[in-house]
Amino acid sequence: MHDIIQLLPDNIANQIAAGEVIQRPASAVKELLENAVDAGATEIKLFVNDAGKALIQVIDNGKGMSETDARMCFERHATSKIKNIDDLFHIKTMGFRGEALASIAGVAQVELKTKRAEDTAGTYIEIENSIVIKQQPAAAATGTSIAMKNLFFSVPARRNFLKSNASELRHIVDEFTRVAMAFPGIFFSLTSNGQQVFHLESGSLKQRLVQILGNNYAARLVNVNEETDYMNVYGFVGKPETAKKTRGDQYFFVNNRFIKSAYLNHAVMNAFSDMIAKDSFPMYALFIDLDPSRLDINVHPTKQEIKFEDEKIIYAFVQSAVKHSLAQFSITPTLDFDLDINIQQTDAVSQPFTTDKKDAVVATSLYKTFTQKHQAHFIDGKSDLKNWDDRSPLPEEVVINNTQSFLDITPKKYPLQKPTTDNFIQLQNSIILAENENGFIAIHQQNAHERILYERFLNALKGKPIATQRSLFPVTIELVPGDALLLNELLNDLQALGYLVEPFGSNTFVIQGTPADVTAGNEKNTLEKMLDQYKHFSNDLKFSKREKLLRSMAWQQSVKTGVPLSQKEMGALADELFDCGLPNTTPNGKPCYLEFKKTELDKMFGK
Ligand code: ADP
Ligand code: MG
Repeated sequence: MHDIIQLLPDNIANQIAAGEVIQRPASAVKELLENAVDAGATEIKLFVNDAGKALIQVIDNGKGMSETDARMCFERHATSKIKNIDDLFHIKTMGFRGEALASIAGVAQVELKTKRAEDTAGTYIEIENSIVIKQQPAAAATGTSIAMKNLFFSVPARRNFLKSNASELRHIVDEFTRVAMAFPGIFFSLTSNGQQVFHLESGSLKQRLVQILGNNYAARLVNVNEETDYMNVYGFVGKPETAKKTRGDQYFFVNNRFIKSAYLNHAVMNAFSDMIAKDSFPMYALFIDLDPSRLDINVHPTKQEIKFEDEKIIYAFVQSAVKHSLAQFSITPTLDFDLDINIQQTDAVSQPFTTDKKDAVVATSLYKTFTQKHQAHFIDGKSDLKNWDDRSPLPEEVVINNTQSFLDITPKKYPLQKPTTDNFIQLQNSIILAENENGFIAIHQQNAHERILYERFLNALKGKPIATQRSLFPVTIELVPGDALLLNELLNDLQALGYLVEPFGSNTFVIQGTPADVTAGNEKNTLEKMLDQYKHFSNDLKFSKREKLLRSMAWQQSVKTGVPLSQKEMGALADELFDCGLPNTTPNGKPCYLEFKKTELDKMFGK
């Protein structure tokens, strides 16, 4: 029967970032939930009244405290979690500074009831203004219950500073969500003013995410899981079609601790870059595990910002892990026949189709490089983004290089989905049906062509320029000054795409040549439409110039719906589509094709 809490010696205490731990009800909630997790609880219940202003109570079934510890835990720098400087670099617990309960005792009336499994009686303690006003033995279940009442009652200035109940409750839900997400093996509940808001049974991470973020994600999560000697990344990202117009469902955890990182967020956004519109936000919940000595969690009072020993490695690894998953797992929106989705079944939905496909990915060079030891040599300056705020466009170099590397890690063929026939059916001059190994696929002609052109143009900018056919009768084109400026900036890239355009006077240009497939007489029209589309992109979306050019060109030149296609043309379209690095979606995230599996069709026919 020994007590375990001790006071940190001053020298250690001074190394720990000082800071106000309790700024608002939500910060107390976070600290109390983390203490319950650290205590090994399997059930944690949170109760709040008046958005935590009147009451915050956490009841856990963890290991409890001895009588002495129950008193001691409210001292500043009283912790059972670290003992010496060395421990500070190997932290596995959520807490370690021994400050939270001391701070809480300073700003609220606290009631603690706690009992260890080995004790027959528990301890009850009441504290006001950091002073113990009552302590007595009490009957209690094993575990700990801490209630804090009237937060900031002794500091009216702070109390008045609190926001509306709605706003404070939102902060509480955020903190609750982050802890609950990081520990899906623990039961959590949240009750607000007597009403249960969350009731989260323990389960898998995927189940927890669906419980918290909604059923909408049940069949739309892609598993991320990469391991190296340096670090592991696992978790889920939402399929591109679930990207939202508002930021929100985005979570990073480092060693199970929720962190905010615009830098790492950028890595994920990049991985999604040619699958979703730039102004939309994909869902992700990613867990990075690495040796605690490789990071400093001690730089911020609430530990939400941390410092990595080598940020660049983490960036590159996270980005590659997400790209890899998006490529490896089917992101084709196959029809969902289990409409009544039962969470237990959803694993099957996001599994890779075959081990073949998985092997193909594993065999790619980038993947190998990353799974080797000492991958630092692989990280070059390209991921060292100066301008990594995710709202701003990337420098052009980076966009192109990243897209390029994306294509490099993608398996080149999707053999199982590719048509196995030369016999195509065109429906309403827009959708092409063809048999494949699993059943049949429906290819959207315009979307598919957009993807093909996008990758073709991307390759052209990467160094295999598209051949220019010189016009016998060069056409001049006169633009308004704004458009002329724009065109001037694009001349070099346009040349790589096969357009030889030369300035001729202030707002006039001469089109000296175009790619072979632009028919004579159409040159001017093609360029004008491209500029229009380009301007449309610049209004809504945050792309680099090149990216905008690529997308505008791909869209503008794609075969539109309503155009009849010959068998030969349909065959070529299908071939080229499945030669793409990423045939599933347009650069904007619309599906290029859907697969209808025979097994699923059979089910529908009752077979
Ligand atoms: P820290 O978590 O940084 O150690 P706290 O002030 O949050 O500091 O808690 C102080 C100590 O009180 C902890 O180290 C732990 O030993 C004990 N403690 C706090 N909450 C609980 C709990 N729910 N169950 C068991 N022990 C707890
Ligand atoms: Mg703590």
